[in-house]
Amino acid sequence: MKEELRDMKAHKDYYNMLYFVADAQQGIPKLCPCGSITKEVVDEEDTYDYLPGKKYFICKNYENDGLHFRQPWVMGMQQEVERLKIKVYEQEKLLRECQALKEQVRMLHMRLTELETGQRRLVSKLTLKQSLLPKWQIPQIFLTF
Ligand SMILES: [Zn+2]
Repeated sequence: MKEELRDMKAHKDYYNMLYFVADAQQGIPKLCPCGSITKEVVDEEDTYDYLPGKKYFICKNYENDGLHFRQPWVMGMQQEVERLKIKVYEQEKLLRECQALKEQVRMLHMRLTELETGQRRLVSKLTLKQSLLPKWQIPQIFLTF
């Protein structure tokens, strides 16, 4: 009974691993779950006199046990293109947001320049008025400014 239960657990773990490996095959695989590098291979048996055979992304240490990558080249490329399309869309969205923020910064800079100009005019008017007043009427604290 105990041994049967252990076998069931081992089978369940193996099926889980098969599922994980199958689920992990997305886009152009760089590394196999076993840790080996994947490479592009042309199936020579599938080659006709004028047509090359099917291409695969395949684990360097491939064994047909379901635990290594062997992805048809077309599928890998299609998934990679879909993934890149999503990435490009996200980058476009980010770029549009950056352009809107850049415009906002430009508007704020213009407003700041207006305020600084207004402040300079006010200071020069006050300085002029201050210079027209007799010195004895100005409290000492205002003379420093
Ligand atoms: Zn492998």
